[in-house]
Amino acid sequence: MITDLNEVPRTAVTDRFHRPLKDLRISVTDRCNFRCGYCMPKDVFGKNHSFLSSNQLLGYEDIERLVRIFSKLGVRKIRLTGGEPLLRKDLEDLVSKIAGVAGIVDIALTTNASLLSHARAVSLYEAGVHRLNISLDALTPEIYEKINQVPAPLEDILDGIENALKVPYQAIKINMVVQKGVNECDILSMCERFRGTGAILRFIEFMDVGNHNRWNLDKVFTAKEMADVIHPVYPIEPIKANYRGEVSKRWKYLDGQGEVGIISSITQPFCGDCARARLSAKGEVYTCLFASAGYDLRPLLDSQLDDTEILQKLHHLWQDRKDRYSMDRLSQGDLKPLGRTSQKVEMSYIGG
Ligand code: SAM
Ligand code: SF4
Ligand code: SF4
Repeated sequence: MITDLNEVPRTAVTDRFHRPLKDLRISVTDRCNFRCGYCMPKDVFGKNHSFLSSNQLLGYEDIERLVRIFSKLGVRKIRLTGGEPLLRKDLEDLVSKIAGVAGIVDIALTTNASLLSHARAVSLYEAGVHRLNISLDALTPEIYEKINQVPAPLEDILDGIENALKVPYQAIKINMVVQKGVNECDILSMCERFRGTGAILRFIEFMDVGNHNRWNLDKVFTAKEMADVIHPVYPIEPIKANYRGEVSKRWKYLDGQGEVGIISSITQPFCGDCARARLSAKGEVYTCLFASAGYDLRPLLDSQLDDTEILQKLHHLWQDRKDRYSMDRLSQGDLKPLGRTSQKVEMSYIGG
């Protein structure tokens, strides 16, 4: 069995810019119990919005089969996401199946933590999730509710984080999307709350994913602005990445209270090392977060094709990949969204 992240299988693939395929993000549902304005704004994802029905969702056997095929192409890390992944029934069963696939050395989960009881934190860990990313955009209750747009008490989320911290996860990261004029005022209280807890706080630039989140450059609180807020109060200095292609720039607190990460998707994009594919809840593969179309695997899974034939199709897909949306946008000069993808896929559909 392969246990090394750097071990490359014979059938591994690289794209047109020599980027390997190493990570697969799997959206297990397009549904969510939150309506964060930057992701699933309430006026668009309202009562009449039609989500996928349960028989449209890719089943756990199919997902396991695809993970097995992807592992032969070089995938070592799986992230389960959504929508809100904890809404998918018996998620632990899927985690156990994935944990049993040769070559997969890391399973992570991204959640809003609203359903993360202590029992759930334990059962996910025991099934094989070893890293958790928890989204938390504010510590001021009014700001938190204004962002997620549902009556989800902040205390429940903080309890979810405490529940996770009691379980020996290898890493727990707290993700805060910073929107100018909305929640930058909570950056320092977030630092104060999570310094020294073992959880790593990560600040994320607001991205123009999807078509509905009313993104504009004026709402982006930049990576530089974030560091400029933190440093005078909690001095920080940059430290080395854990591995090539790590999206978050690492900074350590000079007083030894741990580290924070800053994800500069807009102002300093990282397409050059992007080794991530995304699988939608319905079974389409996307090779970029900003793509307008995916490659539908459902017909292949339902056909007579064997694993080797599906692997060859995915091999070609990745080999032909030329995506580097954020870098192209940066080189355009004004950071305006690129016109060529006017209908981009929604983040909740393919997972963050
Ligand atoms: N529901 C889960 C959650 O919120 O953690 C998982 C899915 S969510 C789509 C995954 C991540 O994408 C979250 O950390 C969320 O903050 C981030 N995200 C969503 N829309 C974003 C945007 N426009 N810009 C930056 N990050 C975004
Ligand atoms: Fe739901 Fe996560 Fe999107 Fe918020 S960011 S609406 S919690 S999927
Ligand atoms: Fe990867 Fe596309 Fe994001 Fe660039 S814009 S880092 S290619 S997902």
